[in-house]
Amino acid sequence: MKILQDLPLEKLKELISSLGEKAFRAGQIFRSMQSGRAISEMTDLSQTLRQRLLEEYVDEPVKIIKKLVSKDGTEKYLLALYDGNVIEGVFMKNSYGNTQCLSTQVGCRMGCKFCASGIGGLVRNLTAGEMLATVAVVNRINGGTLDKRAVTNLVLMGSGEPFDNYDNVVDFLRLLSDKNGLNVSMRNVSLSTCGLVPEMIRFANEGLPLNLTVSLHNPINDKRAELMPIAKAYSVEQILSACDNYFEKTGRRFIFEYSLVKGVNDTEECLQELIRLLKHRPCHVNIIRLNEVKENGLKATDDKSAYKFADKLVKGGLSATVRRLFGADIEGACGQLRRTYIEGDKQ
Ligand code: SAH
Repeated sequence: MKILQDLPLEKLKELISSLGEKAFRAGQIFRSMQSGRAISEMTDLSQTLRQRLLEEYVDEPVKIIKKLVSKDGTEKYLLALYDGNVIEGVFMKNSYGNTQCLSTQVGCRMGCKFCASGIGGLVRNLTAGEMLATVAVVNRINGGTLDKRAVTNLVLMGSGEPFDNYDNVVDFLRLLSDKNGLNVSMRNVSLSTCGLVPEMIRFANEGLPLNLTVSLHNPINDKRAELMPIAKAYSVEQILSACDNYFEKTGRRFIFEYSLVKGVNDTEECLQELIRLLKHRPCHVNIIRLNEVKENGLKATDDKSAYKFADKLVKGGLSATVRRLFGADIEGACGQLRRTYIEGDKQ
């Protein structure tokens, strides 16, 4: 089966005309898909057209199968794909709007030590249409429309490494920013990468000036490699130069994520190296409290020390803040909800 949501409007027009239908139907279907409707719900189409589409295309590529609501209002979803795979999505409420956290792959092959998403390896890439459908259904369930979106901001920070699924992610971003659909500005989108340097350089030329975020987690190469295997392929210096290039091309300041692991990357040595490397760069450091994952035994730095670490970075001349905790009571860590679901399934 194919995913109708994968098609940009131009391709949808070709399909509709090949089926002998009037051209305006393509726009109608495109808007319905971006509104989160299944093909079978598109009752403004003839039954014949719906049936012809359903012969080849998945009716509802992303279905919400579980929703958890945290005390702080954060919602976490377990979403089923058409082939039985499951992914997670998070919806966070802020003073400036609502942010959806999006997965780009089922599982992940980057193998970062602290992260739950990579424990079972990569299962498969999400298609552009599946990512789009995730946004569309979460927007819809929260009462959003195309004109008045409930999802105002997006972060590609769920399961998966976006730049390991480069083409689909770029296609998705183009679908997402289509003026005929959800029309999301790239200013309101953040993409987080573990630092795939060639893709970071390539992305700077795509004309999609989103907020580029890099998972740094340690500024010292060999120590970074102990947490993140990808550090063996690309050095911190290469990452910084790709970030500088991104700033030159897009004018957008970049962001570093730094999840504090007790006794590992919260040391004075790391702190001084961060200040040395980042002091004169147009960037921000997001200090994250580690979500402890039972499988790896890594411990979080306590809150007081986390704030102190951020404070010292600021005193050293950097822009740095400690990230707010969202949905800590509902398995907020990357990939944890999916893992609990998969493990429960096996029993
Ligand atoms: N593959 C992308 C997106 C990952 S998730 C990337 O590597 O950037 C978004 C952020 O959460 C990343 O910075 C990731 O390193 C971090 N992260 C993953 N597991 C975590 C955990 N258990 N606690 C704190 N941060 C975590």
